[in-house]
Amino acid sequence: MTYERIRYETPAEGVARITLARPEAANAQDYLMLSELNAAFDEAASDANIRVVVLAADGKHFSSGHDLSAGEVDMSDFPTVGTQCHFDAAGTEGYMAREAEMYLGLCWRWRNLAKPTIAQVQGKVIAGGLMLVWPMDLIVASDDVSFSDPVVAFNVNGVEYFAHPFEAGARLAKEMLFTGRSLGARELLDRGMVNKVVPRDDLEAETLKLASHIAKRPMFGLTLAKQSVNQAVDATGMYSALQSAFSLHHVGHSNNMEVHGRRIDPSGIDVIRSEA
Ligand code: ZN
Repeated sequence: MTYERIRYETPAEGVARITLARPEAANAQDYLMLSELNAAFDEAASDANIRVVVLAADGKHFSSGHDLSAGEVDMSDFPTVGTQCHFDAAGTEGYMAREAEMYLGLCWRWRNLAKPTIAQVQGKVIAGGLMLVWPMDLIVASDDVSFSDPVVAFNVNGVEYFAHPFEAGARLAKEMLFTGRSLGARELLDRGMVNKVVPRDDLEAETLKLASHIAKRPMFGLTLAKQSVNQAVDATGMYSALQSAFSLHHVGHSNNMEVHGRRIDPSGIDVIRSEA
C-alpha cells in the first residue's frame, strides 16, 4: 500500500510501526489520515510475521487533533468499514454517521485489534490526538508529552472517543474536561495513564525495545491476554459508556448548529488560545 499521510514500516522482527507523517500540520487528522491509519492497522493485523504494532508520529507533537480546516469531505473517497451509512443525509443523521464511522467506529476497531499495540507519543496530544492514543494497549511517552482535551470550550462534552473516565478516573476526567488543562509526563505516569516516560531522544529506541521484547512471545498468548483484559474492562460497561457519551456529543453538535449555525461554538477557539 502507498500512503500520503502516514508511513508503514517493519523496523524489527515481529514489529510494525505506523507513523503519522504530517508534522507540518502537527499531525492534524483529516479523514484521509484516519482512513490510511485503518488500512495500515489492517495490514499489520493480517501479516503473520507481525506480532506487535507501534503507533508513532513525526515532528514535535504527536497530534493536534482533528483537522478543523478540512471542511466537508466526500465520504465515497474512503472505504466504509462500519455499518452506519447515509453519510450525506441532511442534519444530524449524516453528521453523526460520519463521526460514528471515522471517529468512534475506527477507534473501537483499533482498540480491539488482536495484536498488542503501543503508542509512542511526544509533545502535545490534544483532543482528537487522545482518540488515537487511548485505543492502544500500552503508551510510551517522552518527557515533553502533554495530554489535554479542551473541547468543552466548543460546547460539546469532549472528544468523540470518550474514554476519559476509564483513562483518568472520574474525578481527574472531570477536571480535565471542565478546565481544559494539560496533564504533563509526571502526572500521567503517577496516574497510570502512560506506562513509561523516557527522554525525548530515547523515545523511538525505548519503544522499539519494548515492542521487540513483547514480540518474542507467541501470538496467540498475546491475543488471549489482550482480549482477557479488554473483556474485563468491557464488563464494566465501557462500550455502553462510549456509545452514551457519543450520543451526548451529538446533542452538543446539534445544539451548536441550532444556536450558532455551526457544529461547534465558534467562541471556543478564543477561550482555548487565551489559555494556551
Ligand atoms: Zn464531533
